[in-house]
Amino acid sequence: MNRHDLVEEAERIGLGLVPVAEEGPPGRINRELVTALAEHDLFNRLFNTDGVTATELCAIRQGLARVNTEAETAFAVQGLGAIPIHLAGSEAIRDQWIPKIRTGEAAAGFALTEPGAGSDAAALSTAAEPDGDGYRITGEKTYISNAPEADIYTVFARTTPDAGARGVTAFAIPRDSQGLSGEPIEMISSHPLGRLIFDGVFVDSSQVLGEVDHGFRVAMETLDLFRPSVGAFALGMAESALRIAVAHATTRSAFGTTISDFQGVSHQIANVRIAIESSEHLIYSAAEAHDSGDRESLTGKAAMAKVHATETAQEAVDVAIQVLGARGLEADSLLSHLYVEVRAPRIYEGTSEIQRNIIARELFAERI
Ligand SMILES: Cc1cc2nc3c(=O)[nH]c(=O)nc-3n(C[C@H](O)[C@H](O)[C@H](O)COP(=O)(O)OP(=O)(O)OC[C@H]3O[C@@H](n4cnc5c(N)ncnc54)[C@H](O)[C@@H]3O)c2cc1C
Repeated sequence: MNRHDLVEEAERIGLGLVPVAEEGPPGRINRELVTALAEHDLFNRLFNTDGVTATELCAIRQGLARVNTEAETAFAVQGLGAIPIHLAGSEAIRDQWIPKIRTGEAAAGFALTEPGAGSDAAALSTAAEPDGDGYRITGEKTYISNAPEADIYTVFARTTPDAGARGVTAFAIPRDSQGLSGEPIEMISSHPLGRLIFDGVFVDSSQVLGEVDHGFRVAMETLDLFRPSVGAFALGMAESALRIAVAHATTRSAFGTTISDFQGVSHQIANVRIAIESSEHLIYSAAEAHDSGDRESLTGKAAMAKVHATETAQEAVDVAIQVLGARGLEADSLLSHLYVEVRAPRIYEGTSEIQRNIIARELFAERI
């Protein structure tokens, strides 16, 4: 299936799942939605033996985001949490978890951020101290999507003190591990998210993902795959806002004509169209760099795609509200929902400022 067909297919699936999404508990995992995504074969695409391509991941996220941000988030978080297990887990760990994740029976989370380590993830201090055949994990993770209810977490913890990014190891840790607790954090959007407390949680060596002290490789490999797709999530929301703005501008009458006749309105919409088109090019160019193994250009392209698409989506939603006037601010409308949903992607998986640092660093390095 080419990517345009996959976007449309994901949009159709997302539309069909709107009633399931609307019934979910706000800020908590919607288990029915996760199962429904599995029934539509979407997790099989993520966890097939050849691995998902960044292009497929972007297309699915773009299509779902056009119509159903809850389904998009449920799909993406399941992937982010479990791809490290799929990529770097032992056969035993993969066999234990991936089948349940594919069917939606288990939900996954990706636990990197800590109260003292957000953008500066290498400053993380959750400790993994050797104990017999494994490690004891002590520390706190926060703003973790799907926490505290996810069944399995990819957790990044420090195995070598004072070694920065080099002393971090990734572990697969089930929710029912002794000493692991957590609580939800209520956000402005319905995104399920919370904190996790590790109070001397014992993990067996077989739960290590990848190599000891090389957990950042696992994190970066996962984020390299996902970063262009955060842009695709934003792109889908921007397209949705643009559709709403165009539909309204061409039907709303004022001063004896439709408001699309006013340049003050039409040029705002045209600017959004330009920014959406350029976002799409950047996103699929970054995805192509990932899929062709062009590591050298991936980092910069993914950074440009993420920052441009997420900021474009914010602008697209804002313009749509301006074009709709008071109607754009009615509660329970798709636009007011997007107004809340569109904000977070500029923060997670590397803030806009961090993406600009990456872009500038590459530029300056070329000059040296
Ligand atoms: C909805 C949502 C879901 C999330 N899901 C997850 C998840 O599943 N797993 C997970 O591990 N984390 C998750 N996070 C956390 C997210 O990854 C962090 O919020 C993000 O990395 C930023 O960290 P911070 O919030 O601590 O901000 P900080 O790092 O404290 O940054 C604060 C401000 O300082 C700026 N800043 C920091 N350093 C620099 C710099 N070097 N140059 C310029 N500006 C800088 C930032 O850009 C930002 O504007 C989620 C967050 C949200 C909002």
